[in-house]
Amino acid sequence: MNGKEQMNIVIVGHVDHGKSTVIGRLLADTGSLPDGKLDAVKESCRRNHKPFEYAFLLDALKDEQAQGITIDMARCFFNTRKRDYIIIDAPGHIEFLKNMVTGASRAEAALLVIDAHEGIQENSRRHGHMVAMLGVKQVSVLVNKMDLAGYRQVDFDALKAEYTAYLRQIDVEPLGFIPVSAREGDNIAAVSASMPWYDGPTVLAQLDRFSTGGGLRDKPFRLPVQDVYKFTGSGDDRRIVAGTIEAGSVNIGDAVLFLPSGKRSSIASVESFNTAVKHSAKAGEAVGVTLATQIYIRPGELMVRPDDPQPEVGARFRANIFWVGRVPMSTEKEYKLKLGTAHATVRLAGILSTLDASDLRLSRTKQQLDNRDVGECILETTRPIAFDLASTSEATGRFVIVDNYEIAGGGIVLENLSGGESIL
Ligand code: GDP
Repeated sequence: MNGKEQMNIVIVGHVDHGKSTVIGRLLADTGSLPDGKLDAVKESCRRNHKPFEYAFLLDALKDEQAQGITIDMARCFFNTRKRDYIIIDAPGHIEFLKNMVTGASRAEAALLVIDAHEGIQENSRRHGHMVAMLGVKQVSVLVNKMDLAGYRQVDFDALKAEYTAYLRQIDVEPLGFIPVSAREGDNIAAVSASMPWYDGPTVLAQLDRFSTGGGLRDKPFRLPVQDVYKFTGSGDDRRIVAGTIEAGSVNIGDAVLFLPSGKRSSIASVESFNTAVKHSAKAGEAVGVTLATQIYIRPGELMVRPDDPQPEVGARFRANIFWVGRVPMSTEKEYKLKLGTAHATVRLAGILSTLDASDLRLSRTKQQLDNRDVGECILETTRPIAFDLASTSEATGRFVIVDNYEIAGGGIVLENLSGGESIL
C-alpha cells in the first residue's frame, strides 16, 4: 500500500467507439504498463505486418493475466501522482451491473466514449441511462476520434449540444465534454496541439478532478448490532453490544443512539475481540462495546452517534435491485430483506422501470423482475428498519433479498419514502 487514495472509474461506450484505445493510452501514457510491454506489442505487430493499436495492449495484458491465478479481465490499474485508479471496462454489463447494484464494487465516476465521426448511437443513450440509474453522479463525455473529424470545433460542439440535451432528459449533468483522439493521444494525458480552441482539462486531469466521497473512517459512525451478550453474576448485569464498525469511529464516552428503537446511552468501554480494552475503534474493526446504562437492545439495530448526520428510518423506500433469482420477483410474494444486520420481511410494492442487463433495454411497464433485470422499485418492509441512502453510506445503504433461503437479489437504497415521520 502506498497510502494513495483509490478510485473506481467505469468506462462505457458503443462498440468500436474507442474504449480500449482510451484505456491503452492511459496505461501507456502514465507509464503503468509492465516494462517492455509497449515495445513487445509494437514488435509483434511489425512481425505480423499489422498496424499497431493501443487497444492491443489490453489484449496483451489479458493474456498475461490469464496465466495468473485470478483473472479479472474487465479491470485495469494505473495511477497518477494523486491517486490509484481502477478502470472498469464495462461491456460485460452483467457482471458490472451486478457488482454496482449489490455494492460489491462501486464506480465513483464514469467516462462515456462517443465517436465524433459516427456520432451518438442508441448504445450511447442506453449507457448514459445505465450510468444515471446506478447513481453515478460524476460523468465526463469523451468525444473520441476527433482526428477523423478534422479536429473541428463545430463537429464537437454539435455533438456536445445533442448529447447534453439527451442527458438533461435523464437528469445527468455531465462535468464536461473532452475532445480527444485516443489513437493519436490528443487530450488523453497530454494537451493536444491540434485543438487549440479547447481549453478544458485532458482526460487524465479530469480524472484527478473527480472527487472521492472521502475515507470510510471520516464518515458518520455506523455500527450494525450483530449480537448482544449478557453477563450476569457478581451482581453486575453487563451487556456487550457486538458488531463490525461499517463507517466512522467511536470513542469511550461518546453518546450513542440505537435505531430504529430510538434508545440512547453512552459508551463505557470498547474492546476488539482478542485485544485489550481500547479508547476508540474505527471502520473495519469488529468490536464489543459496553454501555454506561443498561438498556435493552436487539441485534439488527443500527448504533450511531446522535450528533452525526442521522440515518434513515422507515418501512418504505425506493431502491435499485439486481435480480438473479430463478423465479421472477413478484409483487404477490413476501421475501426476506437483509440490510446490515437487520432482517425484515419485505414486499415489492411497485416497479418504476427496469433495465435488462443482457441488452440494456429499458422498460417502464414490467410487472415483475426477471432474472438479470435491474429494477428501480419501491420496497415495503413489515416493520421499520434503519438504513442509509447508498449515495451517503454504502455499507448501510445496500441489501440483499432472500427468496426460499437463497440470495435472489441485491440492491441499493435510493430514497426513503416513509414520509419523514419521526419515530423517536
Ligand atoms: P472499443 O470497442 O470501444 O473498445 O473500441 P477500440 O478501442 O477497440 O477501437 C475501435 C477502432 O477504432 C480501432 O480500430 C481503433 O484503432 C480505432 N480508434 C480508436 N480511437 C481512435 C481515434 O481516436 N482515432 C481514430 N482514427 N481511430 C480510433
